[in-house]
Amino acid sequence: MRFDIVTIFPGFFESVFAQGIVRRAQNSGLVEIRLHDLRDFTHDRHRTVDDRPFGGGEGMVLKPGPLAEALEALGVRPRAERESSKSASQQVSESAKKSSAEDFASNDGSVGETQVILLSAQGKVFTQAVARELAALERVVLICGRYEGVDERINELYCDMELSIGDYVLSGGEPAATVVVDATMRLIPGVLGNEASGEFESFGAADAEIDMDVKGVPRSQHGAGGLLDYPHYTRPVEFGGLVAPQVLLNGDHAQIRRWRREQQLKKTLRNRPELLEGAALSAEDLRMLEELRGTED
Ligand code: SAH
Repeated sequence: MRFDIVTIFPGFFESVFAQGIVRRAQNSGLVEIRLHDLRDFTHDRHRTVDDRPFGGGEGMVLKPGPLAEALEALGVRPRAERESSKSASQQVSESAKKSSAEDFASNDGSVGETQVILLSAQGKVFTQAVARELAALERVVLICGRYEGVDERINELYCDMELSIGDYVLSGGEPAATVVVDATMRLIPGVLGNEASGEFESFGAADAEIDMDVKGVPRSQHGAGGLLDYPHYTRPVEFGGLVAPQVLLNGDHAQIRRWRREQQLKKTLRNRPELLEGAALSAEDLRMLEELRGTED
C-alpha cells in the first residue's frame, strides 16, 4: 500500500516514520510512504503556498493552485473525471474493473484504487472502522492543511473525504496524517507479526464467539467485539505494592479468558459506555455486565 502525503513540512515526518512497525513495514515493501513538498509546486521566487482569505478574517489560507498541481503530478485527476470514467468503464465489460483501475494510474505506473483525503477538523471522525476501509486500498493521498485551512475548492474538486482525528484543532494536518498512516498500515496483512492481532485489540472487529475457538494460551490480543482491550501485566509479579492479578499466573486458560473478557466489559463500561451498544455481546457477557453495573456505585 502506498501513502502520498502533501505537506509544507516534509521534514516533520522523518523521525516519525523511521521507527518501529512503520519503519519495518516500509523495509519489507508492504508500505510505501512518499512525501511531497507543496512548495515544489509553486512558481514564484518566494515559493508562496498561502494567501489572505476572501471576506477577511484571521490568518491565511492554502492556495488552490499549488495543491492542484501537486495532486495532478501524483496522477490524481479531479473527482468528477475519475467518477465518470469509472462508471463509463463499469458499463463496458468484465474487464472494466481493470481499466478503471488504470485510470487511477499515477506517473510511475502504479495502479489500484486511490482515495484522496483532506485532513480537516471539519471532517468525519477517523475511527478503527475507517482505518480498516483505508487498509484495503492500493493508495491513499493525504493533504495536510495549515494556517486557517485549505481553499475549499480543493476539497470539492479532488477529495474523496475529509477526515478529522478528533474534536480539537491542530495547527496542521501533519500530526493527523501520521495518525491515519499508523493506524491504517498496521491493519495491512503481514505488517504486524501476528496476522490476527489487529482484530483483537480495542475496537477490534472479532466477535465474542472467538472465545470458543481459541485453544491453549490466549493471545495477548485476544477478545474484542467492539470493546476496549483488557489490562496487560508483565514481570515482576509485584510492583509498587501491587500484585499482578492471581488469575493470570495460574495457567488456567479458560479462567484467564473469562477474566479478560470481564475486564474488557468493565473498562468499556467505565470509560466508553456508548461502545457497548454496538458491541457483539454473548449471553455470558450480558450477565457479567449486569453484575458489573450492580457493583458500580
Ligand atoms: N480553521 C480550521 C482549523 C485550521 S487548523 C477550523 O476551525 O476547522 C489547520 C489545519 O490543521 C487544517 O487545515 C487541517 O489540515 C489540520 N487539522 C486541524 N485540526 C485537525 C483535526 N482535528 N483533524 C485533522 N486535521 C486537523
